[in-house]
Amino acid sequence: MSTFTVIGGGIAGASIAYHLAKKGHAVTIYDRTDSGQATTASAGIICPWVSQRRNKKWYKLVQEGAKYYPRFIKELEATTEHSTGFQQNGAICLFKDERVQQLAYERISSKQEGSPEMRAVYKLTKEEVKQMHPHLTDAYPAVFVEGGGQINGKQLLAAFKEGIKQHGGNWIQQHIEPSKAEGTVIYTAGAWSGEFTSKPEVHHQRAELLHFQLQEEKVNTSTPVVMGLGPMYIVPTGENQFAIGTTHEDTKEFSITPSEENLQYLHGEAERYFPQTELNAQHIAVGLRPFTRDSLPFIGYVEENTFVVNGLGSTGLTAGPVIGREVADYLSGEETVLELSDYAYF
Ligand SMILES: Cc1cc2nc3c(=O)[nH]c(=O)nc-3n(C[C@H](O)[C@H](O)[C@H](O)COP(=O)(O)OP(=O)(O)OC[C@H]3O[C@@H](n4cnc5c(N)ncnc54)[C@H](O)[C@@H]3O)c2cc1C
Repeated sequence: MSTFTVIGGGIAGASIAYHLAKKGHAVTIYDRTDSGQATTASAGIICPWVSQRRNKKWYKLVQEGAKYYPRFIKELEATTEHSTGFQQNGAICLFKDERVQQLAYERISSKQEGSPEMRAVYKLTKEEVKQMHPHLTDAYPAVFVEGGGQINGKQLLAAFKEGIKQHGGNWIQQHIEPSKAEGTVIYTAGAWSGEFTSKPEVHHQRAELLHFQLQEEKVNTSTPVVMGLGPMYIVPTGENQFAIGTTHEDTKEFSITPSEENLQYLHGEAERYFPQTELNAQHIAVGLRPFTRDSLPFIGYVEENTFVVNGLGSTGLTAGPVIGREVADYLSGEETVLELSDYAYF
């Protein structure tokens, strides 16, 4: 049994602390819950197979992440009796016309062989999109990925917190400096990493999500997630309630005050995807997504006693649980499924 101090209680730190505590190590996690913590602000889609990104190391990580999710959530929810908001109602991926839809269908379905967890993949006509998601626009054809899912970052963190406690770990709600921590330090400080180390260099992007409700009599609670045109996505969050986003703004600031311009932009996007229904904006969630070089997460030692996990970027909710499993196995001297040296790039 070893002693670990985890600094940062977003999904990266919480998942590592949970998996280490489960193995019987002495684990203390510190989190000061900065405004802008990415995990709480997110309304997350778990559907990595649709991305056009070609980085193989990144794809391996998120593919393994999506594969681990259903089994891991079942275990976490059973242990803690906390719901994480995980649902697998599929993903509707919209495309601007039938030609692009066909190309996307070929690209996405070609990934099925290595990822049976994607389940069925098929094309939807505009009318079929409307049948599956009655409030959504019928302007675009789609590809449906049955294994697509969603997770609520805030609820997931609450479940992790309880799970860590149940496995004998401590969660302390305060700031700590790495030099004051006991045992092996695991530094998962997200956008705030630069306060104590420049290895690796972390920059951040401000991301905003508009939460809104549709003025509808017919109640809808379990629609699929929607991946719109460009970076836009829509996640159901309750009865006729959705979140749409996100904006992407490289910044050095840590402000999380929503901008009026972005509010108008997201409102316009919501009206574009839900053109027939009146909608009420509820609030804007703002988070700071941490990125490293090449947008590839960093996982590895930066000093003899300091292990860093950061740069989870825009797919951290997908990769977070499996990173926790892999890092806990690695630090316990066990074999890992992923080649972790791929992510320790100096
Ligand atoms: C709006 C939005 C939408 C997103 N959508 C998706 C999605 O659909 N799918 C997906 O897979 N991913 C999504 N993401 C990405 C994902 O949320 C992030 O990659 C992930 O949450 C990053 O987690 P993290 O633990 O690295 O950082 P964070 O969650 O930011 O946590 C870092 C924590 O460290 C704490 N900390 C820092 N320094 C100290 C210290 N010295 N002492 C104590 N505590 C400290 C901070 O207070 C903070 O709580 C989204 C992100 C945002 C913002």
